[in-house]
Amino acid sequence: MKFDTESIHAGREPDPATGALATPIYQTSTFVFEDVGKTKGYDYSRTSNPTRKVLEDALARLEGGNRGFAFSSGMAAETTIMHLLKAGDHVISGDDIYGGTYRLFTNIMTKFGQEFTFLRLSDRERIENAIKPNTRMIWIETPSNPLLNIMDLEMVVEVAKEHDLLTVADNTFSSPYFLRPIEYGVDLVVHSTTKYLNGHCDIIGGAVITTTDDLAEEIQFLLNGMGTCASPFDCWLVLRGIKTLPVRMERHEKNATAIAEYLNEHPKVDEVFYPGLLSHPGHGIAKRQMRGFGGVVSFRINSDVTSFLRELEIFSLAESLGGADSLVEHPATMSHASMPEDVRRSVGITDNLIRLSVGLEDVDDLIEDLDRGLRNANV
Ligand SMILES: *Cc1c(COP(=O)(O)O)cnc(C)c1O
Repeated sequence: MKFDTESIHAGREPDPATGALATPIYQTSTFVFEDVGKTKGYDYSRTSNPTRKVLEDALARLEGGNRGFAFSSGMAAETTIMHLLKAGDHVISGDDIYGGTYRLFTNIMTKFGQEFTFLRLSDRERIENAIKPNTRMIWIETPSNPLLNIMDLEMVVEVAKEHDLLTVADNTFSSPYFLRPIEYGVDLVVHSTTKYLNGHCDIIGGAVITTTDDLAEEIQFLLNGMGTCASPFDCWLVLRGIKTLPVRMERHEKNATAIAEYLNEHPKVDEVFYPGLLSHPGHGIAKRQMRGFGGVVSFRINSDVTSFLRELEIFSLAESLGGADSLVEHPATMSHASMPEDVRRSVGITDNLIRLSVGLEDVDDLIEDLDRGLRNANV
């Protein structure tokens, strides 16, 4: 089946107990055994839950993996993945990654003896030079956050396979509609389902999609052992969101493209970051690797940030992305405040950088909003 059909049907069967078309919310902690040692397939909802199972099966199909797992947040999913490793293991990670991922790696996992090297994964030689005897994993974000840098998944996976390293791709920005990293050989896909997969800014959730039975078994063991699973209600909302993922992504991209082109011409804007622009350094790879360029646009403004942000009416000043509502944020003081200033600067997250999550509103209204903001921004 094609992706648009899969979004609506993959993993979903009418409820076996009642025939309900929409997946019921199995809001229960525990399941009664039929007999001693005999269940109907479920015993305790931390281990597994029927609503969660439907979401997990849908995610596995949409990403082209063997199994999916739903977590209470993107960070819970990432924390669980990091427990595949042990003390002394070394990870190579992209440098301009999600701020919370950077904090998990540098402030938390290092306490347990894991080591990290951050670098731009676009350069094969730099990756090879960073590999050490204890390197176990490469962590990839493409497009990266907030600068929308594009990594060549095939190239990174090739290096990883030569050195027997696990590859993890954070696919939050693209969603499986625009990018399916497993098709390029990535071992694990991670998501913040909070963003496009749910799409309505009303839950926090995460997911991991695996590619082998061994990885699936390990992730299920960790999810259950660490208790990082998602609640049935949140799974239900993500399932609901996924039905409209293709139509939402198309509209996000259409609006984002128009906005990127508008900003690119504006005298108060110095630089626009959107992989759909021909001028974007990763445009060629993005075009080959992705089915679309997504709904996030970043730019450097050459006038006052604060007065610009205060002028906006439709774009809400808020972190997060991927919802119907358009959001604007200031990475240096918001999403990437957990990155030390010198690191932020060195990867290009300057104080005049603005990130837009372009929503599903009428694009003329969105451009008018930005236009008023830029016109009235103090020089
Ligand atoms: C939001 C986000 C996360 C973290 O997910 P939460 O659901 O907020 O815990 C991880 N990676 C990326 C790219 C994100 O945008």
